[in-house]
Amino acid sequence: MNKKDFDPIKKSLEIRKHEIIDKLSEFQNESKTIETDIAQDLADKAESSYTKEFLLSLSNAEREELFQIDAALQRINRGEYGVCQICQKEIGKKRLNALPWTPLCIDCQEKAESESA
Ligand SMILES: [Zn+2]
Repeated sequence: MNKKDFDPIKKSLEIRKHEIIDKLSEFQNESKTIETDIAQDLADKAESSYTKEFLLSLSNAEREELFQIDAALQRINRGEYGVCQICQKEIGKKRLNALPWTPLCIDCQEKAESESA
């Protein structure tokens, strides 16, 4: 994949990110931003300033998705996008189309799910 291939992915990740943020910004009166440790953990040097209320108003799934999206955007910036974070193999295109923020290939995902279950 060359850099141009990432553009549409980047765009769809950013759109999805804004969808989540827009949906939840309804909960906010004022934008007092607090850097969150959680966001920091998951995404080093993320430009992520979410309010605490905002994060709390997210469902776990949405929060997880938002972090995954941020992390995926960073991997694009670092040129590491599309590579499984565990086994370092390329993630299938089909999978990336369905879940553009996924950090894991299908094998590692299934393994992780069966371990946490
Ligand atoms: Zn893998």
